[in-house]
Amino acid sequence: MELEYKDHLSPMLKGDIKNYLIDIDGTITDDVPNEEPERMVDCIPYPDALETINRWYDQGHIICYFTSRTENLKQITIDWLDKHGFKYHSVLCGKPRGGNYHWIDNHLVKATRYKGKFTDMVEKQVTIEVFED
Ligand SMILES: [Mg+2]
Repeated sequence: MELEYKDHLSPMLKGDIKNYLIDIDGTITDDVPNEEPERMVDCIPYPDALETINRWYDQGHIICYFTSRTENLKQITIDWLDKHGFKYHSVLCGKPRGGNYHWIDNHLVKATRYKGKFTDMVEKQVTIEVFED
């Protein structure tokens, strides 16, 4: 991973490389709740998600699966990702459950809601909530 360090600040990714944080349940496969872990073994990946995310990986982007699955479900998750050929750098468990996410950070953050089609990103004008200037 190419990081750029400046004057005692957090490092930044170089160039156009993105840190993709990608949900699992309901985004790259069926929406499986933590209460039904047996379904996590047999669920099927969404083919367009697998193809698109692996292409992003091959292009040099950082792929992190960021999931509300708990730590005890991490190995099941890793085995499933590996079995289906997902390429990734990391898996982070413990994302808060319940949706309605609003991420606040000193780094640039973009968010994209998955609505059933996993494609490359396109630009659209939308209204977002920001802090006052
Ligand atoms: Mg989800």
